[in-house]
Amino acid sequence: SPATESLLQALRHGAPMQQRRAMAKAITLLESTRADHRQQADALLEALLPHTGKALRLGISGVPGVGKSTFIEALGLWLVARGHRVAVLAVDPSSSVSGGSILGDKTRMEKLSVHERAFIRPSPSGGTLGGVAAKTREAMLVCEAAGYDIVIVETVGVGQSETAVAGMTDLLCVLQLPNAGDDLQAIKKGIMEVADLIVINKADLDPDAATRAQATITSALRLLGLHGRAADTDHDDGLPRVMQLSALQGQGIEAFWGAVQTFVERQRQTGRMQSRRQRQAQAWMWERIDAGLREAFAGHPGVRERLAPLTEAVLAGRTVPSVAARELLRAFLSAANGAAHA
Ligand code: GDP
Repeated sequence: SPATESLLQALRHGAPMQQRRAMAKAITLLESTRADHRQQADALLEALLPHTGKALRLGISGVPGVGKSTFIEALGLWLVARGHRVAVLAVDPSSSVSGGSILGDKTRMEKLSVHERAFIRPSPSGGTLGGVAAKTREAMLVCEAAGYDIVIVETVGVGQSETAVAGMTDLLCVLQLPNAGDDLQAIKKGIMEVADLIVINKADLDPDAATRAQATITSALRLLGLHGRAADTDHDDGLPRVMQLSALQGQGIEAFWGAVQTFVERQRQTGRMQSRRQRQAQAWMWERIDAGLREAFAGHPGVRERLAPLTEAVLAGRTVPSVAARELLRAFLSAANGAAHA
C-alpha cells in the first residue's frame, strides 16, 4: 500500500529525525493488536526483510542492579563515537505489570538516548514472554533495515527471558556482580549454558573479588564442560568466556568489544552464525504457530463450551487429564462443530 511504501521510504532513506519517527511508527504498528494494523505490519516486515540481517545482534542480561543500563550506555557511546549506529531494544515480560520496568525509565541511558546514531526502545508491554519476544524480534528487523549495524537486546536475568534473548541474538552476554564467585549457587547452571560471554561488572568496587570471581566462574564452566566454547556449539574455539570490567568507569569496554568481534568473526567464518540464525528463525516461526494455535484453541466455541466442565472434572479426579485433552482437541479439530456454533 502507499502508506507502507512511504513508511518504508522514510525508514530506509529518511533524514535522522524523520527516520527515527518512522522507526517508532513502524514498531508501534507491529506492536498493535488490531487486525488491520497487523496486516500492514506484516506487509512492511516482508518489504524490510531484504535489508535486514547485517547487524551484529548482542544480548545483554543480568539481575536488576548489576549495571545493565550503565554498561549499555558506556558501550553504546563508545560504539557511536566510532561511527556505529546502535539500537537498544528490550524483552521484559513483566512490563505488563510494572508498566515497563526496563528502559521505561527516562533517566536511563540519558546520553545515549539523545545521540543521533542511537535508537532506544522500551520493551513491548503486555502478553506472554513469547509474544513480547516476537515483537522485539520484529522491531530488530525494523532497526536493521534502518541501517543500525549493532542491535543490543536487554533483558532481566530472571527466568526464561534470558533464553528468549539468546534465541534472537548472535551472542548473549550475562553480567554478574564481583561477589558472584563467592556464591556460585547464585549463577544458575542454565544461565551458564545459554551465556556466550560472562562479564563481571563493578570490578572497580573490589578488584580482588572480581578476579576471584573470574577464576571461580571459569573453573565452574570447565567443570560443566562449557569453557572455551560458544553456548550453542560443542566446538572448543579457545576464546575467553569470562571477563571483568567497570561499566561506571568505562574500563574494559574496548577489551569487551574485542572479544565480541573475535567471537562473531569466528562464528561467521565457520558458518555457525548462519546456522544459529537459521535455527532461530525456525524456532521463531514455530513459537508463533504454537501461540496462534493456542489462541485459536481457546477461542473455539466447542472448546469454550467444554473447557470449564472438563477442567473441573480433571481437578476433582473424575477424568484423566489426557482423556480430557483429547476430547477438547477433538472438539477443536471438528470443523462441523465449529461451524455449528459459529
Ligand atoms: P541495571 O538495573 O542492571 O540496569 O543496573 P544500573 O545500570 O541501573 O546500575 C545499578 C547501580 O549500579 C547504579 O547505581 C550504577 O551507577 C551502579 N553501577 C553500574 N555499573 C557500575 C560499575 O561498574 N561500578 C560501580 N561501582 N557501580 C556501578
